[in-house]
Amino acid sequence: MTGLTPAAERRERILREAVRQGLLSPQRDLLAAFVDLDGVAATVESLRRAFASAPSSPPVLHAFAAKANSLVPVLAELRDLGMGCEVATAGELARALAAGFAPERIVFDSPAKTEAELRRALDLGVTVNADNYQELARIDRALGGRVPVSRIGVRVNSQLGGGAIAAMSTATSTSKFGVPLADPGSRRELLRAYRDRPWLTWVHTHAGSQGCPLDLMARGVAQAVEFAEEVNASLGRRQVVGVDIGGGLPVNFADDETTPSYATYVEQLRAHAPALFAELSGISGGYEIVTEFGRSVLAKNGFTAAYVEYTKNVGGRSIAVTHAGVQVATRTVFNPDAWPLRIEAYDGGGTVKRGGPVRQDIAGPACFAGDLLARDRALPLLEPGDIVAVPDTGAYYFSTPFHYNSLPEPAVHGVRTSGDGGVAFELLRPAQDPWDVPVHEPVLTVR
Ligand SMILES: *Cc1c(COP(=O)(O)O)cnc(C)c1O
Repeated sequence: MTGLTPAAERRERILREAVRQGLLSPQRDLLAAFVDLDGVAATVESLRRAFASAPSSPPVLHAFAAKANSLVPVLAELRDLGMGCEVATAGELARALAAGFAPERIVFDSPAKTEAELRRALDLGVTVNADNYQELARIDRALGGRVPVSRIGVRVNSQLGGGAIAAMSTATSTSKFGVPLADPGSRRELLRAYRDRPWLTWVHTHAGSQGCPLDLMARGVAQAVEFAEEVNASLGRRQVVGVDIGGGLPVNFADDETTPSYATYVEQLRAHAPALFAELSGISGGYEIVTEFGRSVLAKNGFTAAYVEYTKNVGGRSIAVTHAGVQVATRTVFNPDAWPLRIEAYDGGGTVKRGGPVRQDIAGPACFAGDLLARDRALPLLEPGDIVAVPDTGAYYFSTPFHYNSLPEPAVHGVRTSGDGGVAFELLRPAQDPWDVPVHEPVLTVR
């Protein structure tokens, strides 16, 4: 009896093997990240099952939100698992194509698409969700009267309100995203836009993200579905055939439990937006569905590990200076109250450290005082050469490093385990060598 959760036992097993194979070493590989590819497959399966249980006849396209973890091999893995891909920039679109997604399984959302990006997406047949009327006018011009190959929708904002983290709340009354549904006259204007463009066949919403309560998100989706029904009813034809419900399922960063589940969210969607799953009846219901989950697919399937370089006691406070900080945990370092992360203590061999808890600050390597992964955290007392692990960092952390202080990008390793406990690694991103960080700036000759 180790007292560890199965997930923590798995992290220990992975860490010990990573140290044994030299993927983590106190001389060279001081920081590394791991993506549990078996875990990703299980998460995708739970997503698929949750939506399959809903009585919807058309298939659901689960498009992974690439910004959550845009490493091409990760995207390729998700493609192999049957997912599509949601992209928000030209760079993410390029990565999705490099990962082998068929254009019709890519969804392009961005509030700032350029003319050139729109033309490229429409030429490829990528699904486009327009954010605003000016973008729709650009699409009109790009199509020049042709019927698009792409599926095209408009992003709507229910304006229902925000959640606990303002920066993650997309459905506020003044959000920068989408066409507002509640502003005076706005619905009627959008209805006209659909009437004038028979190729506008989708409605898109992304009602929130981390910190948003499930029922707020489900009510936001319900507003989008209601608008789809309204378009079809008012036009007297089944023009809108699909609803893209966005992503945003919040992740539990407090322990190893995966909650809320996709199944719970689908229950909420069924309660608030029954028409989404209803069988086609006349011109009502029968919608195709696209989802765009990011954080909930990857967060709990990744962790970061770093060596402790030094420890000290200052003003009565124990501090461990590690090699993981703002470069791999940017949101947490700059906004620690909104984005708390767990920290685990291991010895230099990757075995869970025992010992009475001591309150410690876990610091990163960057040269500013706020570079702390955690403050005043009770852990076995860390010593130089120990390892700290940071669970739940598979999305929006090591995959999008911050280049402050010219800190190098750490290696990312995919992990698969066999039934007999064997651990196999595959390199998803090589580490940058700190002595060989690519310099993109032109080199000026000093005379
Ligand atoms: C970020 C984003 C998502 C994914 O959000 P998660 O919280 O990672 O699930 C989906 N759709 C859009 C439009 C987004 O901007």
